[in-house]
Order: sequence, then C-alpha cells, then structure tokens
Amino acid sequence: MRVTESNKVDVMSSHTQLFIDGSWRDSSSNATLTVLNPSTEQAIGTVSRAERSDLDLALDAAQRGFFAWREISAFERSKIMRTAADLIRSRADTIARTLTVEQGKPLAEARAETLNGADIIDWFAEECRRTYGRVIPPRVHGIYQLVIREPVGPVAAFSPWNFPINQAVRKIAIALAAGCSVILKGPEETPGPCAELVRAFDDAGVVRGAVNLVFGVPAEISDYLIAHPTVRKISFTGSTAVGKRLAALAGMHMKRITMELGGHAPVIIFDDADIDIAAKVMAASKYRNAGQVCIAPTRFLVQEKVYDLFLEKFVTASNGIRVGDGLQPGTTMGPLAHERRLQAVENFVDDAVEHGAEIETGGNRIGSNGYYFSPTVLTHTSQNSRVMNDEPFGPVAVMIPFSDFDGAVAEANRLPYGLAAYAWTKSAKTANLVGAAVESGMVSINHVALAMPEVPFGGIKDSGYGSEGGSEAIEAYLNSKFVTQAGL
Ligand code: NAD
Repeated sequence: MRVTESNKVDVMSSHTQLFIDGSWRDSSSNATLTVLNPSTEQAIGTVSRAERSDLDLALDAAQRGFFAWREISAFERSKIMRTAADLIRSRADTIARTLTVEQGKPLAEARAETLNGADIIDWFAEECRRTYGRVIPPRVHGIYQLVIREPVGPVAAFSPWNFPINQAVRKIAIALAAGCSVILKGPEETPGPCAELVRAFDDAGVVRGAVNLVFGVPAEISDYLIAHPTVRKISFTGSTAVGKRLAALAGMHMKRITMELGGHAPVIIFDDADIDIAAKVMAASKYRNAGQVCIAPTRFLVQEKVYDLFLEKFVTASNGIRVGDGLQPGTTMGPLAHERRLQAVENFVDDAVEHGAEIETGGNRIGSNGYYFSPTVLTHTSQNSRVMNDEPFGPVAVMIPFSDFDGAVAEANRLPYGLAAYAWTKSAKTANLVGAAVESGMVSINHVALAMPEVPFGGIKDSGYGSEGGSEAIEAYLNSKFVTQAGL
C-alpha cells in the first residue's frame, strides 16, 4: 500500500474547450479553470470556463439542433449513435488514459468505464427505434385514438467527476435517442473524457447543435439553464443537497427532471451467507473508484454469529488493496479525485473516532503528495457519528453487528437515502424477504451487478427519482401526445 514518487507517472498538459453549435471554442472571455492530477496534485491542464454569453450561444444552438435532430428518423439516429459507440471503442485506450490522469482511478477501471460507455450508447441506439406510441380502441366506429411519443425538447444535463464518461454518456445517449438536443455541463475536475465522448458523437454525424458541452461555475450554469425557457428537461447526477436545490428550481419553472443523487448503501450479511465470497466481492466493490461511487456499499450489517469471521476476511481483503497511481500496473485503488474529498473523508473518520469508533485498518491519508487515503474499516461506530448518516463517498466501510432480520432491515431503512442495497444469504426465502423489505431503488443479492445499460438505474427517497438505465430511462425524455381523429 505504499505510494512513492517513483511510481507516479509524468503526464502531458492539455486544454479542454467548450463545444457549442458544432465547433470547439474557448469561452468568450478566454477564462479557464485548472485541471489537476490527483495522484501528484500537479496542474496538468486547463478547461474553458463558460460565461453567460457562451450559455446563450449554447441555448440558441440547442434549440436549432433540436428542430433538426428530431426530424431525423429514429432509424438514422440509431445508426449515428452506433457509429459514435464504435468510435469510442476504437479510442478507448487514449480516453481511458486521460480519465485515469484526471480522475485517479486505475487504468483498468477507466478502460472498463469507457467501453461500458459505448455499450450504453448501443443500448439507447436500439431503444431509439422502439419509442412506440399506441392506438386506443375507440367508443365510436371510425375514430382513431393515437398516443404519439414526442421528444420533450432541449435538455440541460449536469454530470459529475466520479464517472466522467459513464454519467455523461447516459444523459447524452438518452436525450439523443429520444430525439432531444442536449447541453451538458461536464465536470470541471475531469473534463477530458467528457470532451472525447462529445467528439465521438460529432465525428459520427450528430447534427450541429444537437450536442453541446460547457464547463464553468456549476451554480451559475445550472441557475441560468434550468430557468431558461428553451430548456425543457433537466437531468442531474450529484449530491442530494445540490439535487434538492436544482429540483426546486426546476419545479418553479415546470421542467421535467431526472435526479440521480447520493446513497448510503446497506449490505446485509446473513449468517448462512458464503462469507469468503461475500467479503471478497464486497471489498472489491467498496474500494472501486476509491469508494467515490453513489452505489458503493457503506454500512455492513453482519449477523452476530458470523460477525468476527466476516470482519477478519474483509480487513484482510482491504489490506490487499494496492493503492497507487492509476497508471501503474497492479494498482487496484487510486487517489481520491480532489482535495475536497480527501478533507471530507479525513473528517468522517476523525468524527467517527471522536464518537468512539475503532479503526480496524487504514484510517489515514497516505503520504503528503497526492490525495491518497487508505482503505478503512471502522467498528463500534456510534449512530450519532456522521459516517453513519451522511454519504462518506470514499474508501470507508462501517461494520455493524445485528441479531435478527427485523433489526437489520430497520437499520438498512433508517436513513433517508434509498439508492442501492446488497444482501448475502443462501436461503431463497430470506433473499425474497430482504428484496421486498429494503427501501431502495436497486437491490443486489449474492452478487454485485448493478448499472448495466439494460437495467433500471435510480433511487427512491432522498436518492432521487427517475432512471438512467433500462427502457424506463427514455420515458422521461418523451411527451405523450394524444391525437383523436375521425374519418370525414
Ligand atoms: P458537490 O455537491 O459540490 O458537487 C457534486 C457534483 O454536483 C459536482 O459534479 C458539481 O460540479 C455539481 N454541482 C455542485 N453544485 C452544483 C450546482 N449548483 N449546479 C449544478 N451542478 C452542481 O460536491 P463534491 O465535493 O463535488 O462531491 C461530493 C458529494 O457529491 C459526495 O459526497 C456525493 O454525495 C456527491 N456526488 C454524488 C455523485 C453520484 O454519482 N451520485 C457523483 C459525484 C458527487
């Protein structure tokens, strides 16, 4: 778990521009923001910072882009989207490298994210051709009652830094599949992969103005775009606090929204589970992307009889995580993506310890250069500590013993979050009961398999609403128009 200067990799500097109305451009003021490598804390590039006038250009382009894109048949739109997916596959190595350098995750994870992005485009390219309406039987002979699905209009989408490809690609692909245009505000911390995604759509032949990409000061951009009459639909991925704010603003302007927000996933380990496999699989899931995953397992509720055994195996798996620069072969966990996260995770652990928690492993920053934090396991954590209530969004696992089913479910459902939940048991009956009892948008039992393009992805309660996967996702980008027609 050592991170040394010698295993950090030098990278070239880059500049990411805005993409508006089919061309790459700097902001009207030429203002930029700095992009850092979280492994070294070195500046590795800049990204253009959009001004109000740039947003006006993007809005104008998105309006014209919408009129042009919706006229292209679903069959043709689907072909263009699949070409974009193929381009991403052919560029995956370069995109993945940029992703690792800007965001920190290991190269293998970055590559998998990029290729998965192409699969997401393919899935929605297929759904594009299936946005069926319906014909409702009339009460009077000779009447045709039609339900027609129409794209809602220009979309304003906001995607975060933890999955620079994966969160952005869902928003762009769903919008385009439905026939909408989109203005994406990408993540300022990790702009490069997002720009490559947009470049693939442009190279594939998406019409001018249908996809626009901006970066800047998040609140300035969202306040302006959400309120603007051109924008008809909002999609946001990020924290619950920001999501509630944006949802309120969208409500004021009667805009449709998809909100994919924070989580605090419970993992219920019943005493009949395969403890060996559960510990290995859940530890890999916990430390993926250094825990900066909205569906990351956080509260490990372990039945008393197997608590010590599970804890021992989970700690062993945690100690086996190889923390380092994501470009180094063999690294299984990179640094946290930015300094805010490092400070936040340190605060979570300090607060837990102040409330009586014991650190079974980890619990500290690694080195003083790069935002590295060790895989951390806490026990005896007070329910009043922050880590038991707020999303840690970092490599911190909390172990909590439970005695019976009802107690475990009560703790799992205690928080206002409801995004992902996990359970391990060999009993089909317990699996059925827990799947029904946990208040969560997604429940994964005896394995970890969430977020494929073809399955729903979204939360309930404070974790948001709407789906960013499966056939449900495209519904939120379509209006239903009822047309009733009588023969003359
Ligand atoms: P943050 O809440 O400031 O930002 C989270 C994301 O929202 C960022 O991408 C940011 O650019 C964007 N954002 C912030 N304010 C915005 C606004 N007014 N309008 C539009 N976009 C806005 O916090 P952060 O330090 O970047 O991340 C920490 C927290 O964010 C985490 O604890 C986690 O809960 C949440 N988060 C969730 C996801 C997810 O996948 N659901 C992804 C990233 C961050």
